[in-house]
Amino acid sequence: MILEDLKHKKKEKKEQSIYTCLEEIKSSWKGNVGGLIQDWVAIAGEQLAFNSTPLNIQNKILTIGASHPQWRQAIQYNRLELIASLKSYGYQIKEIRIRQHYPKDLVTRESEKEIWEKHPSRTDKTGITNCPICKVPSPKGEVKLWGKCSFCRRKELRID
Ligand SMILES: [Zn+2]
Repeated sequence: MILEDLKHKKKEKKEQSIYTCLEEIKSSWKGNVGGLIQDWVAIAGEQLAFNSTPLNIQNKILTIGASHPQWRQAIQYNRLELIASLKSYGYQIKEIRIRQHYPKDLVTRESEKEIWEKHPSRTDKTGITNCPICKVPSPKGEVKLWGKCSFCRRKELRID
């Protein structure tokens, strides 16, 4: 009975130490940005937080990513207040750097994809049907949109 108890305690202790170890690793490797991201709205304020993101902390230098020049400027302008706010949340930051951040590119790529997805010439998405004018198999999307294939439409537009 006592032996069982001891075994159990030993196991518990081992698990505990693994847990502690993981926590230590986590807090060292996330460059503490993981926690900061969670506190970001409170620290930076809603507007700034929605337009920027903490990227990295290294040697007490926080790198913030912002996509729009306007927000990069705003961060630059409010730098000292932001550092003070960070300190009040326990983040020992002495300097802030601002970097162009990629979401802008993502947004562009996303909208390009969307345009292509909705493009009437995409046969894989909309299928094929015979053009009612020239009888040539054409993307259904085109016929649905213009009542004819793109070839007939171009011809028509040129006559107009
Ligand atoms: Zn046609």
